[in-house]
Amino acid sequence: MGMTYIPSTLGEALLLRAETGAHPLAGGSDLMVQSKRGIALAPEFPFPVMIITGLDELKGITLLDDGSVEIGALTTPAEIASSSVVPWHVREAASGMGAIALRNSATIGGNIGNASPKGDLPQPLILLDAEVVLISVHGERRMLLDDFILGSKKTALGDDEIIKSVVIPKHDFSYLFYRKIGMRRANAISKLSLSAAAVVKDDEIIDFRAASGAAGPKVIRSREAEAILKGHMREEIPALMDTFLEAWNNAISPHAMPLYRRNTTKRMLAYFLSAIHEGKEEGIIREDS
Ligand SMILES: Cc1cc2nc3c(=O)[nH]c(=O)nc-3n(C[C@H](O)[C@H](O)[C@H](O)COP(=O)(O)OP(=O)(O)OC[C@H]3O[C@@H](n4cnc5c(N)ncnc54)[C@H](O)[C@@H]3O)c2cc1C
Repeated sequence: MGMTYIPSTLGEALLLRAETGAHPLAGGSDLMVQSKRGIALAPEFPFPVMIITGLDELKGITLLDDGSVEIGALTTPAEIASSSVVPWHVREAASGMGAIALRNSATIGGNIGNASPKGDLPQPLILLDAEVVLISVHGERRMLLDDFILGSKKTALGDDEIIKSVVIPKHDFSYLFYRKIGMRRANAISKLSLSAAAVVKDDEIIDFRAASGAAGPKVIRSREAEAILKGHMREEIPALMDTFLEAWNNAISPHAMPLYRRNTTKRMLAYFLSAIHEGKEEGIIREDS
């Protein structure tokens, strides 16, 4: 059984991580599943663990000078959902995570570190080109979250690193869409989720992006499909729709999704695109079915 450490500063945590390889334990909602109950009630893990919940350096949400938003790794879904500076897609995903107790104890760092294809936060974060800030005794490095998550439960986290924060660049979208389809409203692990966003200026689609969660080993974002729409006019959407949906469908690996989920994703994308084509009032597009 592994040792359990409780560092009180980030510096101490980084040294422990470098020397023992201890796995960070934040909210514990994923990690506890891998534990056994030992003597008394203390959980036992097959590897060393360090409880990082006391590290103030990993807490808080900051609006940076360039308009981007930095979210500390220990920030909970409840804090994210109620923030006035976190972008809408991410707040929406955070507010739909688990039940209230989980939303107050789970963390964004744990959701990313766990890299489950069903995790709710990586999907909107990848849509927004968020970067993850990693820290070790050797310093910091940053990379796109899309590159950090390698596949189901696989990340590029170094043996001596921990996730410090996530930085979301500033965006000014004309149209926004988010939908999570779970088994029940509360405490539902996603069966399928989709976020999308577009920038339309003088009827030209300047930017279009979409990200699909629980659709394969990691979040699906197809730059090829997005490029089919970018630079075209709003009125061209019906003519481009099938080509776009086909390209999107091809981006999903053949066995990743049963047909009905594929079709649901395509239907949601078509709904969002139709709303843009029809020139609906700019803002959040809701699908009430
Ligand atoms: C009942 C229940 C319902 C759930 N519902 C949802 C849901 O609706 N949506 C959803 O997305 N998830 C859900 N989950 C899964 C889980 O709650 C989330 O993935 C959560 O965000 C994990 O965060 P945590 O802080 O609890 O992670 P932990 O269990 O503490 O850690 C998870 C993993 O990340 C690593 N880690 C944690 N922090 C860091 C860090 N700073 N740096 C590096 N690695 C780190 C750990 O070492 C571990 O490998 C649910 C879980 C349960 C038990």
